[in-house]
Amino acid sequence: MKADGCVLGMDIGGTHVRAGTVKQDMSLHGFEITPSISLFRGAGNRIQALAGYVRKYCARHLDGMLPKAVAVGFPSTVDRERMRLLSTPNLKGFDNMDVVEPLQRELGIPVCIDRDVNLLLLNDIRVHGLENAEIVIGCYVGTGLGNAICIRGEMLRGKNGVAGELGHIPIWGSKRPCGCGNIGCMETAVSGRHLEELRTRFFPSEKMETLFQNQGNDPVLREYVEGIAVPVAAEINIFDPDCVVLGGGVLQMAGFPMELLLEAVKRHTRRPLPYEALKIVPSSQSQESGVLGAGMCAWDRIKKGR
Ligand SMILES: [Zn+2]
Repeated sequence: MKADGCVLGMDIGGTHVRAGTVKQDMSLHGFEITPSISLFRGAGNRIQALAGYVRKYCARHLDGMLPKAVAVGFPSTVDRERMRLLSTPNLKGFDNMDVVEPLQRELGIPVCIDRDVNLLLLNDIRVHGLENAEIVIGCYVGTGLGNAICIRGEMLRGKNGVAGELGHIPIWGSKRPCGCGNIGCMETAVSGRHLEELRTRFFPSEKMETLFQNQGNDPVLREYVEGIAVPVAAEINIFDPDCVVLGGGVLQMAGFPMELLLEAVKRHTRRPLPYEALKIVPSSQSQESGVLGAGMCAWDRIKKGR
């Protein structure tokens, strides 16, 4: 039996899985966070582990009834058809994996998947009322550098589905190895992972949570923040967007110098335009954002009936 009137949104992260049911009015119910390791530990088959989690979730929150559809965001590159995961550097066992067809077969309800940042931007567009904007870009500095590009209401996918990998544009002269296998990617400098490296090297006695609060004026951290502006401004100069959404865990850290970042982004933006008309908004990011974006994706899937 199906629970009418709700879909299940899931946001799979490197450390935690977030899930909740989303009604058509975008209200969120039964939100829960589970460590990824407890969900996938010892699970030979990732699809069966996911299906098992969905069934248990439904037993806990929906009297065992299934939702109308399930949408799942992954920290992965996803194929153009949004059926299959290509590469998932921060989560083991999710490379080259069909998801949609086997999970639909297991559960017997429609399933859709997307990159997690696309679902974040989908939610940010809704929250900021940007549905009618021509171009919106989202830059999310978390563990890595996430990026999503929305053009006339559609997320840019590219020929192979892997457009918007801003974290993997090369830095001239850099020799740092990146998790993707390439050398000198932007993400080796602009990411939470690199911030952690800076903390270990320059501020070993400082906790990550208080790093900006206590050391925000240190030249090492100011240079790090100025570095974040480089890929953001590059993308602004390419797309001339209606709006830029900035977010991610690093930007939400206590004491993060947002003014410095905004000033540096503007400094690198082409004059007179898009500089004079530049609109930047903060991401509405919370624990629930990815799940809400997944909910939107699932409702869209039902509407399109494909
Ligand atoms: Zn890379």
